[in-house]
Amino acid sequence: MRIVVLAGGIGGARFLRGLLKAAPDAEITVVGNTGDDIHLFGLKVCPDLDTVMYTLGGGINEEQGWGRADETFHVKAELAAYGVGPGWFGLGDRDFATHIVRTQMLAAGYPLSAVTEALCDRWKPGVRLLPMSDDRVETHVAVDVDGERKAVHFQEYWVRLRASVDAHAIVPVGAEQAKPAPGVLEAIAEADVVLFPPSNPVVSIGTILAVPGIREAIADAGVPVVGLSPIVGGAPVRGMADKVLAAVGVEATAAAVAAHYGSGLLDGWLVDTVDAAAAAEVEGAGIRCRAVPLMMTDLDATAAMAREALALAEEVRG
Ligand code: GDP
Ligand code: CA
Repeated sequence: MRIVVLAGGIGGARFLRGLLKAAPDAEITVVGNTGDDIHLFGLKVCPDLDTVMYTLGGGINEEQGWGRADETFHVKAELAAYGVGPGWFGLGDRDFATHIVRTQMLAAGYPLSAVTEALCDRWKPGVRLLPMSDDRVETHVAVDVDGERKAVHFQEYWVRLRASVDAHAIVPVGAEQAKPAPGVLEAIAEADVVLFPPSNPVVSIGTILAVPGIREAIADAGVPVVGLSPIVGGAPVRGMADKVLAAVGVEATAAAVAAHYGSGLLDGWLVDTVDAAAAAEVEGAGIRCRAVPLMMTDLDATAAMAREALALAEEVRG
């Protein structure tokens, strides 16, 4: 079975771990969000690709959900001693090596997809990890600072500001001109099922879908598309997804997120058991819906979620 998963960082990566356990023989292609990418200290950092790579490759800081395990921060401290920031983005010493290798390869002319493949040679994530695009896409967020509207990089909004101010717009800068990375459209066309893990619907999956051709390829593939809600009981399980949902006029509920994707894209939607009452609304919108436990508390619980998603895919395939 060939499965394509559109993934952001933590939510996507953790789900993938369960999917690998639930479907060990499947050929899994992950299309990763690169709208969170940022240049820091002259280095190209791809937080979501690295979270997937480290999580599946066994290098992740488990408690934190991002960054390397057994990390130290000597380089960061030395940079700070020179007065060189930003200090709000936590790049550890081990992590730095990944960004150095990536930046060096990009400077030598390799596209991001080839660089990602080379990095994965070391981590062996057990999936084929593709960036959504080799072209630069950078998510910016419109916020009001001192009474003035300005655009900040997504990481500045998310990490430095902790989404504490209202987002007025989310703009994936460069997406309109971006092309899907090599292999992305082919993987979608050859897929038996497409899954949306419980990743951020706006700044993770929404950004991937903003690359021209990807949304269309999924809608036209003629295979079941099934998603899992990142919103449980009217709030994100973790993080501030409600803030970016508000920016695009979507309520932070499992049903509203399903409607936001729409029946033109989504065939099936899993909501948590606490949101069982929302299932009728989702089905009313033309999307098959089941209420099952959706908390990724451990690998078994996550694998069970993946099995439910694949079962729902078979059900809508009919
Ligand atoms: P990010 O790039 O690191 O922000 O990660 P993603 O975009 O992949 O996923 C973030 C989303 O995962 C957040 O909106 C969370 O609500 C959701 N999430 C995290 N843990 C869980 C979980 O255990 N269950 C569900 N249903 N959603 C989760
Ligand atoms: Ca992210």
